[in-house]
Amino acid sequence: MTDPRLPLDGLRFAFHTFGCQMNENDSERLAGYLAAAGAAPAGLIESADVVVVNTCSVRAKSEEKLYSLLGRLRTLKKRRPLLFGVVGCVAQLRKDMLPGLKSGVDFVVGFDQYPRIAEIIAESRGRKMIAASRSRGWKEGTVPPIRESAVSGFVTIMEGCDNFCAYCVVPFTRGREKFRPVEAVLAEVRDLAAHGFREIQLLGQNVNNYADSASGTDFADLLGRIAAVPGPEWIRFITSHPKNFTPSLARAMAATPKVCRQFHLPIQSGSSRVLERMKRGYSREDYLETVRTLRSLMPEIRLSADIIVGYPGETTEEFGETLSALAEIKFANIFSFCYSPRPLTAAARIADDVSTEVKRSRLMEVQALQKEIQTTFHKTMIGRTERVLCTGRSKKDPAVFAGRSEGNQVVNFRADRDVVGRFVDVEILSVGPYSLRGRAVSLYNK
Ligand code: SF4
Repeated sequence: MTDPRLPLDGLRFAFHTFGCQMNENDSERLAGYLAAAGAAPAGLIESADVVVVNTCSVRAKSEEKLYSLLGRLRTLKKRRPLLFGVVGCVAQLRKDMLPGLKSGVDFVVGFDQYPRIAEIIAESRGRKMIAASRSRGWKEGTVPPIRESAVSGFVTIMEGCDNFCAYCVVPFTRGREKFRPVEAVLAEVRDLAAHGFREIQLLGQNVNNYADSASGTDFADLLGRIAAVPGPEWIRFITSHPKNFTPSLARAMAATPKVCRQFHLPIQSGSSRVLERMKRGYSREDYLETVRTLRSLMPEIRLSADIIVGYPGETTEEFGETLSALAEIKFANIFSFCYSPRPLTAAARIADDVSTEVKRSRLMEVQALQKEIQTTFHKTMIGRTERVLCTGRSKKDPAVFAGRSEGNQVVNFRADRDVVGRFVDVEILSVGPYSLRGRAVSLYNK
């Protein structure tokens, strides 16, 4: 039964989310606000009355994709009644440009205004709405999110960044660091546990800088307190900054079996000179030392990283240092990109002097090397048994289950019963560079 007093009563909504897990979690929270205001999920954009586009501005390419989606929504709006709007990083960055006369955009909502999204959409029925003002301090959500997964739950522990890496727009979009109070984090983890979630993924731009000043809790303490909540068996976190890595965090991880033996630690470049120009606050040697510390305490840990190629002034020799870092560290996975200048950043004020062709060829070189590293590593896993959290069925073949190993590798496997939401021991039978394939040998019941 619907309630006509609610501002979005009877409307159906859909999201299109660009970017990182923080954005995915934000979309889940925003969906919670829309549902509390009487709207219901439509499933597809094509059948929605309201479309919310959650945006990313980390790379020029993600912004380009947004503008092409807005074009498609404009076309849809010509055929039938539709409200659509933009939230997230681009909403914050381009708030005044987005709702231009021809854009069709009805509402623009910045991060700090998310709790008001339903009200803003309701008001946008009569006029275009922009709400992107910033506020200080952490603001706790007031309604539960509508989660995409019933197995693995995102928990945001901090937002924003004070690092101002020279290439990065995030401090200008997400704003300065804000930490969520530890009790609010634990309350959400307990709620996920009560609903049977198996895995907790802690999110933030710089999680290992977490600090709850009122209780004196740092990130290592937080991991321990979350691990003490009965229920979820795995804890992951993303993203960490190499500059804020401490051996005590590695010791806390090693002492907490629930913390997955997996660490995403963006290196960005293997050249200390480039890292200095990027204002990253660590050198190649510092990063290698961190890798040694992690591996000495947890030899089985799987590392992943982000890489930028073609940063302004990157010489052939400096690029070669990125290749040699990859060969030396042997990441389990990387996310690699060509540099693109972003507005407001320090790097945007210097010449983007590495040509597009050179950037592309360096990216291909990085990806070819990494493919070789992953293939070689994955081959060593044939015949081994990996514990996998099954999160669903394979998109290509619904008879095949899909999940991730503790090391965060994609594993597709066959099982003789429905194992979605369960931990399964999977014997690895064959591998490719980006995933493993196998068969369930036993259920891990807890
Ligand atoms: S640490 Fe650097 S790259 Fe990461 S969000 Fe902050 S400024 Fe951006």
